[in-house]
Amino acid sequence: KHTSELIAAGEVVERPASVAKELLENAIDAGATKITISIRRGGIELLQIVDNGTGIEAEYIDKAFIRHATSKIKTAEDLNSIHTLGFRGEALASIASVARVEVLTRTQADEYACLYRIAGGEEQGMEPGARPVGTTITVRDLFYNTPARMKFLKKDASEGTFVADVVLHTALSHPEISFRFEREGKLQFVTPGDGKLLSAVHAAVGRDFARDLLPVEGELGVYQVTGLVTPPRACRASRGAQYFYVNGRYVKNRTMMAAMENAYKGTLMQGKFPGGVLMLTMPAELVDVNVHPAKTEIRFAREGDVFDAVYRAVRNALTTPGS
Ligand code: ADP
Ligand code: MG
Repeated sequence: KHTSELIAAGEVVERPASVAKELLENAIDAGATKITISIRRGGIELLQIVDNGTGIEAEYIDKAFIRHATSKIKTAEDLNSIHTLGFRGEALASIASVARVEVLTRTQADEYACLYRIAGGEEQGMEPGARPVGTTITVRDLFYNTPARMKFLKKDASEGTFVADVVLHTALSHPEISFRFEREGKLQFVTPGDGKLLSAVHAAVGRDFARDLLPVEGELGVYQVTGLVTPPRACRASRGAQYFYVNGRYVKNRTMMAAMENAYKGTLMQGKFPGGVLMLTMPAELVDVNVHPAKTEIRFAREGDVFDAVYRAVRNALTTPGS
């Protein structure tokens, strides 16, 4: 299979949440310390991201929207080993082919900002504009030119919730960045960007949840586990507040979930579940992210080791005096 096909398979703009994920990753890659994301009609009518990152050089803007122009992947094998956030070099091109996109951007070296428009993959022109260093990307009318894909979208409120999940997951994994999220004209949260996971959890998940959390810190072989978990007495009736990350990337994973829940054995009432944020750091070659690069599934080469590392770290947090 050709590399480009593999990339194409992995990079599909499925819904507003996938647009949000790609644009947030770009803003993070650009070194932003403040990122605002706003959506209207679940992100279908409007999805806007404002960042204070490096900006895009004027001469480079149109290239940023050309498929694969910036791809860092040279061979199929690279797909397994590349772990920078943005590596497919086609998110902007994909988004611009199925929406009306406006980019207002300025780098430190530029006197003026540059406003670039592209809709349905057709360039609409470029003009000077004004803004501080950074980038604003506005995506309007997602799938306006692809009714077949539009049909697969759920109700606005559901799409908005998918976007909200992406913003939340991103904010928790980057406590050093201040995220502001506005949904249908209402401010949802602002994280302070002070570098502390607890501050981000407090702002983005909620103060009740944040109040009782216990710190997790553990190391087993090549695996490091950090984060925050609920004490047994604060466990809840659903799994809604479990957030797992592997090497900075939000994942859904049964092994991590089972390990965490097992650590509470004997302390939990029937039907109650722990919550928390767990960050696993491990050698990239022991994770297979290639299940689907745009999705949250992953596979571990050594599940038992991951289970042990997570179990022990959480168990330790629960049995440390003071918890
Ligand atoms: P990738 O992130 O995989 O390189 P994208 O299509 O997502 O591909 O973005 C293309 C390029 O546009 C990026 O490599 C980056 O140089 C530039 N870019 C996109 N968004 C931003 C941003 N918010 N700030 C600065 N540069 C950006
Ligand atoms: Mg990108």
